[in-house]
Amino acid sequence: MTNNKRIAVFPGSFNPFTIGHLDIIKKALPLFDEIIIAIGKNSTKKSQLKTEDNNLEQIKKAIAPYPSVSVEQYNGLTVDFCQKHQARFILRGIRNTIDFEYEKPIAQMNRKMDNNILTVFLTTDEQYNAISSTIIRELSENEKDVTEFLP
Ligand code: ADP
Repeated sequence: MTNNKRIAVFPGSFNPFTIGHLDIIKKALPLFDEIIIAIGKNSTKKSQLKTEDNNLEQIKKAIAPYPSVSVEQYNGLTVDFCQKHQARFILRGIRNTIDFEYEKPIAQMNRKMDNNILTVFLTTDEQYNAISSTIIRELSENEKDVTEFLP
């Protein structure tokens, strides 16, 4: 089944959701009818800063001004989540060549599994380049104020 609406899934750990993530969402707003932020359980990353429910609440607040954006948690493969929501696009943010090299085989493999799904990469603006959830989490765990990096 296909859906003519341009629905994009923005998958990630979002632990925490940063102003870098929000920047990607804002840039994607005019491209898609709907954007679903999909908080995945990533087996290689620990969630330490907050509980998953706090994380969900944090994202809900950040996206409140944008009616076409929603957020959900998911388990399993991103392509399965996309199919369930009839989403034809996966949205990802690229900060540097390391991000790109990491993302490329995932995008290619996702397309092998479902060639109706296209991964769309948007590059970050320079001021968000150094913002990663891992670094923000580390600062926060060491009692540094990270509010400027969070929406
Ligand atoms: P994952 O564990 O899937 O990498 P993240 O929450 O770290 O999840 O990132 C989700 C997406 O957001 C990824 O595409 C990542 O490259 C992108 N991203 C993370 N931080 C930034 C940033 N500061 N600017 C632009 N994109 C970002």
